[in-house]
Amino acid sequence: MRFGPAGIPLAVEGDTLEGLEYTAKIGLRAYEVEFVRGVHMSREKALELGKRARARGVSLSCHGPYWINCAAREKSKIARSIHNIMDSARAMQAMGGGVIVIHPAFYMERDKKEVYSQVKETLNLALEKIKSEKLDKILVGLETSGKPTQFGTVEELSMLSAELPQTIPVIDFAHLHAVRNGWIKGKEQYSQIFDEIEKNLGLNYLKHFHSHYSNIEYTIKGERRHLEFSPSTGEPPFKPLAELIVERGYDGTIICETPLLDQDALRLQAIFREAGGKA
Ligand SMILES: [Zn+2]
Repeated sequence: MRFGPAGIPLAVEGDTLEGLEYTAKIGLRAYEVEFVRGVHMSREKALELGKRARARGVSLSCHGPYWINCAAREKSKIARSIHNIMDSARAMQAMGGGVIVIHPAFYMERDKKEVYSQVKETLNLALEKIKSEKLDKILVGLETSGKPTQFGTVEELSMLSAELPQTIPVIDFAHLHAVRNGWIKGKEQYSQIFDEIEKNLGLNYLKHFHSHYSNIEYTIKGERRHLEFSPSTGEPPFKPLAELIVERGYDGTIICETPLLDQDALRLQAIFREAGGKA
């Protein structure tokens, strides 16, 4: 398993490149580049980042802009969403490949099946462009939502990924916990999440899955804010997740999205090792 921060570690005053160097130096092996407020990275820098990441044994991914909405009502917003996916995909390909994580869409009080087919249609348009530009080293990661108003249950996303090439579900454990009001108590719920994915995508995906983890505060409306990791009281609990991954022989990446980023990623990694896992 690989653990790493969502963005530049707090102790780093420099840019993404320095963030990568620091991440590798402290012993983490994954790094998610944040394009959440737009893709502002030159091709040269993306190439350099990829080169250094390979040299340090760190795997890269990125998080696409927050305003992507593949089920927007306005055509201009659909076009902009595709544009943002493409910018992220080109940067990721230049970095040497990896997952580009997006929040696919909002329901906006519409029928869930209708939203599903619209998301599929928009993603298909993006995937056609990705294919025509030969961006073959990227995967579009569809992140599970943290709010009931937002599209993206484990079922919806794993079904969608089974239908579309170059897409995967990105499991955000904190979101799954928050969207159902503190649902995850232990291994039973984590098992349900993995079983649903395995049902739709097969075991193979769970040998290289991509995910986000944080402790989280929530209300009836879903996620409120990310919290620092607490091994004893933090929700959702991490230890049963680590144990289950070890028991089932899964493998992949966990990106830490707590306010302490890299520092908490190290704590998660340590607990995972204590549980007998290789990281
Ligand atoms: Zn996200």
